Amino acid sequence: MMTNMENVSNVPLIETRGLKKFFKVRGGLLHAVDNVSITIPARKTLGVVGESGCGKSTLGRAVLRLIEPTAGEVLFEGRDITKFNRSQMREMRRKMQIIFQDPYSSINPRMSVAEIIAEYMLINHTCASKAEAFQRTAELMDVVGLARRYANVYPHELDGGRRQRIGIARALSLRPQFIVCDEPVSALDVSIQAQILNLLMDIQDNMGLTYMFITHDLSVVKHISDEIIVMYLGQCVERATSDALFEKPLHPYTQALLAAIPEPDISMRNKPIQIIRGEVTSPVDPPPGCRFASRCEKAGERCHRETPDLAERESGHWIACHLYDGKGV
Ligand code: SF4
Repeated sequence: MMTNMENVSNVPLIETRGLKKFFKVRGGLLHAVDNVSITIPARKTLGVVGESGCGKSTLGRAVLRLIEPTAGEVLFEGRDITKFNRSQMREMRRKMQIIFQDPYSSINPRMSVAEIIAEYMLINHTCASKAEAFQRTAELMDVVGLARRYANVYPHELDGGRRQRIGIARALSLRPQFIVCDEPVSALDVSIQAQILNLLMDIQDNMGLTYMFITHDLSVVKHISDEIIVMYLGQCVERATSDALFEKPLHPYTQALLAAIPEPDISMRNKPIQIIRGEVTSPVDPPPGCRFASRCEKAGERCHRETPDLAERESGHWIACHLYDGKGV
């Protein structure tokens, strides 16, 4: 018989069920996130990949309730936080943090590095005194590899990599369990990207953190993610372990995304880069059918009238595509 402890440990840290976020726009409802269900076990990373406008950042914000979902559930350790009131949410926010793409836009340029990192701790009274908050700030600077001599400088005096380290230190300051990393390396040089990715992975190991890692760049999520979902126009079209997705992508959109990654090996420089052609379907009140059909080389008549369900076609490998249900396109 299962004990209570075993029961609790089997509950994923984060789960969404049928999550939707629609925005009213001129002409109808924009389906930014449309019926997305994910699970992220504790201490694991879910990569969320897709082109700009696919709804991946909206998904991250809806999970944190930085924007209110239109429908569906967001469970944190099995409790639906969409039902939480303001004071329950205030408690919850300490456990869930976000790291932004451009740390400079999310920090006050008139505050010093130490003041920025200490800010959440002072607002939330998580330290017994101001001195304790600044002591912990110094420790956090060590954790993220930011030399203590930068404590009194201003963010505009630092390069992008160091500014992102400030953002990470601030996100860690309330000792969260879950962090949404929203394109955290997209604005950085390639050499700095690797440093920040390694830092995030080291911190995850040392602090037992759970990540949702959002990016438009599949090559960035390969090493950091345990599982990856690929989003297209608000929907999850493929979900698999990182290894399975890179070894055997099944959805035509994922295949096209992978083919579009430039080849780093100079001997392969003549390999043609695939470009995904075709017009993008409007996400405003989208008609039935596969949303990728207008760009899919394999689309058939059925694809334009019937929406494919996300179904498990191989163990742990989910695809929303008519090619795999045995009925043809
Ligand atoms: Fe292409 Fe049809 Fe599959 Fe959509 S359902 S990805 S249009 S083959």
